Amino acid sequence: MGRTSIWVDLLKLLVSFALLWLGYTYISPMIPTGWLPNGSWDPDAITLSIEQEEDLGEFLMEIFEIQQSEKVSPKVDSALWVIENRLLTNLGPTDYEYKFMIIDDPMVNAMTLPGGNIIVYTGLLAVSDTPEEVAAVLAHEIGHAEQRHVVDKIVAELGITFVMAVLTGGDPGLVREITQAVVSNVFSRSQEQEADQFGLDLLERSHIDPHALAAFFRKLNRENLSYDAEMEWLMSHPHNNSRIKASLAYKVEEGFQAEPIAIDWEALKSSL
Ligand SMILES: [Zn+2]
Repeated sequence: MGRTSIWVDLLKLLVSFALLWLGYTYISPMIPTGWLPNGSWDPDAITLSIEQEEDLGEFLMEIFEIQQSEKVSPKVDSALWVIENRLLTNLGPTDYEYKFMIIDDPMVNAMTLPGGNIIVYTGLLAVSDTPEEVAAVLAHEIGHAEQRHVVDKIVAELGITFVMAVLTGGDPGLVREITQAVVSNVFSRSQEQEADQFGLDLLERSHIDPHALAAFFRKLNRENLSYDAEMEWLMSHPHNNSRIKASLAYKVEEGFQAEPIAIDWEALKSSL
């Protein structure tokens, strides 16, 4: 073997490294994440980017005709802001820019749409005895968002191709029907537990007593509101005893002190 061929080999080696580097740097990010290392395709492994989630959230709000109620008084608006602000300032790093929207509707409901969009119905405020109970429900909804439950469910049930078609302008009539079915579906039990756990942690970090979630559920039990058709949040969130127990069993750190949310709740409720 001559001296030249060593240099040629070395050059080949360098070129191979350069190609590998190029591949990793420029080509692999272009391959959708659904491709597994063994070359097979797993549609469940696909996740939407935050921008795509935001687009999907906006799209869903458009087709469900969800928009901030103009009928809601500034008092209600600012009360919601105080509650959400307490939670968001204690949330820590997040990919989302949360947007809370209040809908003037007696339904006891709150829901999370993709992209950090959380919809709150005035009925939820009306049924809650304290602002902390509302915070408990909202902390749970933030848990669903942070853990990508909604977007995962939509992608799992409709398939990524469909979601992409929606994002690039699908047939709104068809889309509405299918999406409605998906959004109104129930989360899995484990997703609910995850969201509860996240919510309870977030409440503690926000200096809100995590038992507020149990108080909310118990009050609904006491008033036997569970089977009312208007109770959409509850229909999708059965307030069974295990969830009440989990909230009551939650141990706060030593030295925890609740800071009351400063809202004149009675005055607020009478303005609804
Ligand atoms: Zn939930």
